Amino acid sequence: MVKMNENFSKLQGSYLFAEIARRTAEYTTANPEKKLIKLGIGDVTKPLSNVVISAMHRAVDDMADKSTFMGYGPYEGYEFLREAIVRHDYAPFGAPIRADEIFVSDGAKSDCGNIGDIFAEDNVVAVCDPVYPVYVDANAMSGRAGDWDGKRWTNIVYLPCNEQNGFIPELPVRTPDIIYLCFPNNPTGAVATKEQLRIWVDYARRNDAVIMYDAAYREYISDSGLPRSIYEIGGAEECAIEFNSFSKTAGFTGTRCGYTVIPKALKRGGESLNDVWMRRQSTKFNGTSYIVQRGAEAVFSEQGEKEYREIIAYYMNNARVIKKGLEDAGLAVHGGVNSPYIWARTPDGMPSWDFFDKLLREANVVTTPGAGFGPEGEGFIRLTGFGDAEATKQAVERVVGVL
Ligand SMILES: *Cc1c(COP(=O)(O)O)cnc(C)c1O
Repeated sequence: MVKMNENFSKLQGSYLFAEIARRTAEYTTANPEKKLIKLGIGDVTKPLSNVVISAMHRAVDDMADKSTFMGYGPYEGYEFLREAIVRHDYAPFGAPIRADEIFVSDGAKSDCGNIGDIFAEDNVVAVCDPVYPVYVDANAMSGRAGDWDGKRWTNIVYLPCNEQNGFIPELPVRTPDIIYLCFPNNPTGAVATKEQLRIWVDYARRNDAVIMYDAAYREYISDSGLPRSIYEIGGAEECAIEFNSFSKTAGFTGTRCGYTVIPKALKRGGESLNDVWMRRQSTKFNGTSYIVQRGAEAVFSEQGEKEYREIIAYYMNNARVIKKGLEDAGLAVHGGVNSPYIWARTPDGMPSWDFFDKLLREANVVTTPGAGFGPEGEGFIRLTGFGDAEATKQAVERVVGVL
């Protein structure tokens, strides 16, 4: 008789966004005349830019002609895209990353989740608290998280991120083998400085640990002193894997394209992690669509960059409007600068689900309760700049009106 992977049965049933959708649907059914505004979404709303669309149209035409048709592509992605990534993301700050260290994929979520395949089950994993749930659940599925004790996983090292440490984690007491970091951070909007990343890179090298660095929001950084990649820190090429995505940079959430960097200098137990990941990908992955990779290449053209910067500026203006409105109303607000996420403290220590319900019912605004991202998220809500500008302004007025 078939036996199921029992780790799945340990996972928490009510997934955060499912619960938000349930409460929202319940309210709309009871109050069909109310118009809700969603400020909780972690999805972009603007369409793909013109150069990206043109590039994909041309790629569709390539597929229609025998002389330009493309079948299976390279597992690691086409060279034209990997070279464009090096030129755009790494060469400008002198990072020692080459095209043969880049793996193109269908998005950062798959890679963040799948990377665990190449590591032994008994590695100790550290995550920030609050955290993007993918890192935790993916490790729980492969048996690396221990058991759920009602609040936390028994074998995960939680790195508290709170107002006291400015939402940048401190080094833990128990030494982990695998450390997930994400800056600009989802959900807190915090961004680590080079000095702060340097501490983690040195720590990982000292302890033979590997950092999983999620840089999905790197293009939201406007402060030129802040690092957009972990490879801006010397030595990171010996201890860090970096995940990137076209989703938040260029609106590819529905189009699907990401890229993971595994430097050749990153070795553990005498093995090159780049080689092992290539072995994994060539077995379980058959590449990202040629059409999508041509669209992604266009993102990094001169015109492509100009177009995505305009869209990001639009989202960041929404973030400013939210941040200013809530601050003026007296809330403690974090993020919203160099990040599309705003992390706001609930008034008078109200539990985050209670504040979520209050804003849903009284302001008709949907947010994300911080408790859904981990125990340290209690007492906060997450708002995003990804909505429509006019609706965002209106939502902020409504929220401020019920505080
Ligand atoms: C949105 C997001 C991603 C990107 O995921 P894709 O699969 O590339 O769409 C990665 N990490 C974090 C923290 C995110 O919020």
